[in-house]
Amino acid sequence: MAMIKDNRTIAAANGIASDSAFGAVTPPLYLSSNFAFREFGQAQEYEYSRTSNPTRDLLADTLSKLEGGAGAVITSSGMAAVNLVLCLLRPGDKVIAPHDCYGGTYRLLSALANKRHFEISYVDQQDDTAMAAAVEQGASLILVETPSNPLMRVVDIGKMSQHAKSAGARLVVDNTFLSPALQQPIALGADLVIHSTTKYLNGHSDVVGGAVIAANTNDVAELRGWANMIGVTGAPFDSYLTLRGIRSLYPRIERQQETAMAVAAFLSQRPEIRVVHYPGLPSHPGHEIAARQQNGFGAMLSFELNGGLEAVGRFVAALKVFTLAESLGGVESLVAHPATMTHVGMGEEARRAAGISDGLLRASIGLEARTDLLADLSSALTSIG
Ligand SMILES: *Cc1c(COP(=O)(O)O)cnc(C)c1O
Repeated sequence: MAMIKDNRTIAAANGIASDSAFGAVTPPLYLSSNFAFREFGQAQEYEYSRTSNPTRDLLADTLSKLEGGAGAVITSSGMAAVNLVLCLLRPGDKVIAPHDCYGGTYRLLSALANKRHFEISYVDQQDDTAMAAAVEQGASLILVETPSNPLMRVVDIGKMSQHAKSAGARLVVDNTFLSPALQQPIALGADLVIHSTTKYLNGHSDVVGGAVIAANTNDVAELRGWANMIGVTGAPFDSYLTLRGIRSLYPRIERQQETAMAVAAFLSQRPEIRVVHYPGLPSHPGHEIAARQQNGFGAMLSFELNGGLEAVGRFVAALKVFTLAESLGGVESLVAHPATMTHVGMGEEARRAAGISDGLLRASIGLEARTDLLADLSSALTSIG
């Protein structure tokens, strides 16, 4: 596809009509675990699906192109992708991670640091003085999540890239919340991009998967080696479904973020709500950075109910269109309660330090009609007021 310039075309059409056996328009799904040798001592292009597989490779190629990387490794989950990146570290290496990072990432980083696989410091990355002080102690890897989960704090990736360069560290950006349709961290200075493809990339809440995209070929080779050694590469069927999801990524997320903006504006007017966190609102502290480094404000938001845990219980029980569930980025609208769901593993103290209160709810806006979503929120809020 030498003439393709727009990522929308890559998302919709990478690998289409490339089947040399039958001319299938949709690329075939290769479930086979192994591939026959051409002759004794001579393998064909593929040998064994843990190492490489044509369906998974097509997904890797698509994601690498969309993120502007040198290559990608497809993993069995987003956490496997995070863990794969941590395989690049040695004992004594220093990792700087956001103090309000994804709960599962926080749990993994803390557990491995406790076993002395590396040293970890959690930093409020919006605070440049704190960040500079942490980097001064030395760093091998700086992890960024922007916008952050669940408070939608925006971190300046270009600035983080300068910190990483000054420390000789790799900059890793978890791009799950926006997808390459809305943010391209490698162009902003990231060395590695992580995805939970479970979310926007697959987009239909029927696959758990992950990916790491690397800016340089050495990192691609090292990550591929580790993924094969520890056996965390993703299943071909999951890759097939994720590719199918990516074909509609751009129109999905464009429509979802339009609705999210309307939901955020609506919630901001309601007396039952203390604060709405959505980078698309001009009042959001990260609005300007988001406007500069993102191609859109995304479809995730969070908000704090005035009545705390008790109000959360009644509000969630009254919702009829939104579903109470973990995860995000699907075609269906969801709410989650971080304190008892996604961020329970973080512990109360760390949650409080990160600003995740008991009244906070996170919403993932789907593809339902905006009028139905607003009506659902309105009647649930009225029921608690
Ligand atoms: C969901 C998520 C992960 C973990 O991905 P899984 O596919 O659930 O393993 C990592 N980072 C972020 C930001 C996520 O939302």
